[in-house]
Amino acid sequence: MSGISLRDVRKSYPNGPRILHGVSLDITPGEFVVIVGPSGCGKSTLLRMIAGLDRCEEGLIEIGGRRANDLAPQDRDIAMIFQNYALYPHMTVRENIAFGLELRGMRKGDRNARAEDVARTLQLEPYLDRKPAALSGGQRQRVAMGRAMARNASIFLMDEPLSNLDNALRITMRTEIKELHRTLGATIIYVTHDQTEALSLADRVAVMKDGHLLQFDRPEVIYDKPKNRFVASFLGMPPINFVESEALPGWNGSPGLTIGLRPDVLAVHGDNPGGAALPARLVLSEMTGSEMLLHCESPAGRLTVTAPRRDLPVDTGKLWISYDLDRALFFDSQSGDRVELSRGGRKIAGH
Ligand code: ADP
Repeated sequence: MSGISLRDVRKSYPNGPRILHGVSLDITPGEFVVIVGPSGCGKSTLLRMIAGLDRCEEGLIEIGGRRANDLAPQDRDIAMIFQNYALYPHMTVRENIAFGLELRGMRKGDRNARAEDVARTLQLEPYLDRKPAALSGGQRQRVAMGRAMARNASIFLMDEPLSNLDNALRITMRTEIKELHRTLGATIIYVTHDQTEALSLADRVAVMKDGHLLQFDRPEVIYDKPKNRFVASFLGMPPINFVESEALPGWNGSPGLTIGLRPDVLAVHGDNPGGAALPARLVLSEMTGSEMLLHCESPAGRLTVTAPRRDLPVDTGKLWISYDLDRALFFDSQSGDRVELSRGGRKIAGH
């Protein structure tokens, strides 16, 4: 198993703007790291640089403790899985899985034995003699992973590997990838723009925006203690609500704060519950199963609240929304950085 260190990695394309502005992170051996961020923020570029498909001219990339900037992709002990998993249509599953091994000079008997081993782990044994056209999307995805696994690489890089699958399959494959990580114990770096995948798969999540790494931490820390307003809004579904502190009745804390209230920190009532509550009117409701998602208009702006279906008041034109400030997040209205409120005043979170 190998770990990976990035030190101040920067990237610009010739005559183009800078795409990565100095990314540093340390990935421990066997860790599952998900890089998440909006489209165009530089995730794939970073992954391609780790793979050796794009050159790293500024900064340092270390793989397994060795400088890797000048190593060819095939010398990096890395297997890569892309979203369009490019199987060879004229080859069977066995041949597809064994393909890379032939290039490495492995004998046919050994190749097939290795392919069958991998197929067993991935529960693809019944399909070894089939061609990709006769497989489901999920099975094809597993063959692509099998091909990467057959090489016995200690690092797997995955670029949006599930984005071409339908929703149900994506959820199944998510569980499978997590299982697989547990079985293989390999280091995985997984790129996605999907915050649910990031939170559910990762040991640690790296949140990127505009070529900067904003935060690198465990999913629960990213969710509970986001570094800034962007991280708070990008992770968490349904998205967090923001209100200005001045808009909350009875607010007597510091001015100049934006308050982040996740939809489950809010509750709706038919009558004024007293204390910290805002009058509101229901604009739109969505059923999500056992819960409702209520989009309400209030003097502090539009607020989304999750509520158990049975708690929905009858007169939705006259609601009250209560909020629990002990579970709220606070941000500097100017910089967007999260601040911790203490009795002595405010301080920037993490400082
Ligand atoms: P993400 O994976 O987060 O969607 P990318 O790493 O693919 O983002 O792209 C980051 C930025 O770099 C984008 O603005 C993209 O247009 C630009 N970019 C990517 N590849 C090249 C290239 N070969 N030449 C010039 N610009 C590129």
